[in-house]
Amino acid sequence: MKQRKRRMLSGMQPSGRMHLGNLLGALDNWIKYQQDYDAYFFVADWHALSTNYADTSHLRDYIREMLIDWLSAGIDPEKCTLFIQSRVPEHAVLYLLLSMITPVPWLERNPTYKEQMEELRDRDLTTYGFLGYPVLQSADILIYKADVVPVGVDQLPHLELTRELARRFSNLYKAVFPEPQPLLTEVPKLLGTDGRKMSKSYNNAIYLSDPEKDVREKLRTMVTDPARVRRTDRGNPDICPVFSYHKIFSEIGVIDRVNTECRTAEIGCIDCKKWVADRMVRRLEPIWTERQKWTKHPKKVEAVVTEGSEKAGKAARQTLEEVREAMKI
Ligand code: SF4
Repeated sequence: MKQRKRRMLSGMQPSGRMHLGNLLGALDNWIKYQQDYDAYFFVADWHALSTNYADTSHLRDYIREMLIDWLSAGIDPEKCTLFIQSRVPEHAVLYLLLSMITPVPWLERNPTYKEQMEELRDRDLTTYGFLGYPVLQSADILIYKADVVPVGVDQLPHLELTRELARRFSNLYKAVFPEPQPLLTEVPKLLGTDGRKMSKSYNNAIYLSDPEKDVREKLRTMVTDPARVRRTDRGNPDICPVFSYHKIFSEIGVIDRVNTECRTAEIGCIDCKKWVADRMVRRLEPIWTERQKWTKHPKKVEAVVTEGSEKAGKAARQTLEEVREAMKI
C-alpha cells in the first residue's frame, strides 16, 4: 500500500529579491523536500508586518519578486502547495483562538524576542503583534496539522512553543493537532562580496535576478585575502571569501588547485575570481531562463498562488471545523 507522505510546512517573510544565500540556505532544501513530503510552502506576509508594519509600501512587490524567484529556482507547484498566508484567513482565526490559551510568560521567555528588540532598535517593537508572532507561527503550522517543520537551531524554541500549544489545546479540549517534529536543517552561511554574511541590508549580496554582467562585476570586485596586495604575494585561501565560493561552486580539481597555487602565488586573484564566476553563472543560468518566463507572465504566477491558496484554504477549513467542534464554538 502506498504510504501517505508526511506533511511539511515552511514559510518565508517577503523581503524582496532572493540572493544566493537564500538559494543555498533555504530554497535548495525546499526543492528536495517537495519530492519527499506533502509540502506546503507559503509567503509569510502577515509575519512581515510584525517588524515592518510602519512601511508596507514595497510589500506587494516583494511578494511578487519572491514568488518569481521561488518558481524560477525550481519550486514546482505540481509537487507542492504554494500559497500566500494572508489569502488563507483561517490562519488568523486559529491565531486568535490559540492566543486565548497562550500564557504571556511563554512569549516573553522566547529568546529571539529580546534579541530582535535589541537588534531592530530603529523601530518600535513594543507591539502586541510582535510579542505574539510565535503564536501566529504556531497557527500557521497547526492549521495544516503539519508533521514536520524544517528549522534551524535558533528556531527550535518557536517550534517547542507550537508543540506546547498543541498539548495545551489537547488538555483543555480535545486532541486535534499532531505535535510537529523539527527537521533540523543546516543552513550554510554564505559570505557576501565584502566577506561578511550575505545579507540584503549589508549591500553585499548576489541576487538570483542579477544579470550576468552584474554577477561577474560583483565577483571581480569582491574582497580577497587582504594580505595579498600584489600578484607576487602569497595568499591564504582559508581566509579568502572567494575561496569559500570555490568550495561551493567549483569542481574538486579547481578547489585543490586554488588551495595550493594561491599559497605559492602561482595563480592570481583575477583568474581565480573568473573561474568561480564562470561556475556561478552556470549555476544561475537555468534560473535566469525561468525568471524571464515567469516575469513575462505575471498572470501565471497569480494563477499558481490562487490555486495553491485555495487548496491550502480547504485543508485549513477542515482543521478549523475540528477546532470549533472541540471548543464548542
Ligand atoms: S587567489 Fe583566489 S583564493 Fe587566493 S587570495 Fe586570490 S581570490 Fe582568494
